[in-house]
Amino acid sequence: WYKMNKIIKEDIETIAKDIMPEAKKFSGKTVLITGGAGFLGQYFISVLDYLNKNTFEKPCKIISADNFITGVKYWVKESETFRAIKHNVKDPLTINEPIHFIIHAAGIASPKFYRIYKIETIDVATLGTKNMLELAKEKKVESMVVFSSSEVYGDPDPRFIPTPETYNGNVSCTGPRSNYDESKRLSEALSRAYYETYNIPVKLIRPFNAYGPGIRLDDARVIPNFVSFALEGKPIPVYGLGNHTRTFCYITDAMTGFFKVLLSTYEGESFNVGDDNFEVSITELANITKEVLKEHNGSIIEVAHVQGMNDAYASADPKRRCPDLTKVKSKTGYSPKVDIKTGVKRFLIWAEEEIKKWKLSYFAVEKVQD
Ligand code: UDP
Repeated sequence: WYKMNKIIKEDIETIAKDIMPEAKKFSGKTVLITGGAGFLGQYFISVLDYLNKNTFEKPCKIISADNFITGVKYWVKESETFRAIKHNVKDPLTINEPIHFIIHAAGIASPKFYRIYKIETIDVATLGTKNMLELAKEKKVESMVVFSSSEVYGDPDPRFIPTPETYNGNVSCTGPRSNYDESKRLSEALSRAYYETYNIPVKLIRPFNAYGPGIRLDDARVIPNFVSFALEGKPIPVYGLGNHTRTFCYITDAMTGFFKVLLSTYEGESFNVGDDNFEVSITELANITKEVLKEHNGSIIEVAHVQGMNDAYASADPKRRCPDLTKVKSKTGYSPKVDIKTGVKRFLIWAEEEIKKWKLSYFAVEKVQD
């Protein structure tokens, strides 16, 4: 059984506190989460479970549907209030009870995995979204969120950075990121069509590089990769020159934003959720990781410039990404708080503990894949 890590516990508590009192709307209701065994899904389940145990008068029922293509296992134990179903949402899902909220968080978001599972990535974002919209229609849900991506903007024109929701994107429909980007765009178009046709109260979320404890260390995205390499004393692998930029949003901020959008009433609308305070180059991020490691245990490591691990990095890496958060801030009161250094430090402390565990368990096998 997965014993919940201290840093993750603190983060869950922070999120739960940040979303009260609006979250009372979940009390006594049923929430369906797709991709519940994934990085974001685990937090949704754990925060609701925390609220059930500590706050709600009447607990909510949590149902997760996941097919474990990239999800690993659940942090929360199955119980009266938490049921896990093994199901691929590209196929219709039958649930014989009322559902009040749907969180469609199933997806294959890491370029490492979406270049391996190319068609599955498209299926979950398109067929999966359509099946969930149908279910929302049948159950007459109170609210639904669909996880889109900041990748719907592709490689944005520098004139549109920071990028507002109104920017239409600069996206290739055949390039190495197209199976992910274009299927997320269709996911949004489907959601809009269901909103306009059936009045489904669906909101679309475009996360900008959310990270935090709980993301798979072999996920290959930049923060887990940099920290894994650093903890193993290996040079930090910066792909190419390292002048590409991103903004990174720590999980407590990201989850607070996601819940706020779900609990809002902006039906049919898209929202950027991320951090607009620190647009950093990948070289700067490598230096931050070095600094955090040095402060943590005194180790000094190098930075190496290497070739991206696959075509999504080597030839289709967006040059800059930074959200314009005006909309989500003004409509939901969202405001990111955790600075990048604090976030990387929390991540590193969590990762160190995880790596110790991996040596003893089946996680070690996954590590060999890197
Ligand atoms: N990156 C890197 N080394 C790594 C992983 C990623 O230099 O080990 C770079 C990558 O080329 C990109 C940025 O970090 O410019 C963010 O990559 P990530 O996979 O985290 O997310 P995405 O490209 O989807 O934003």
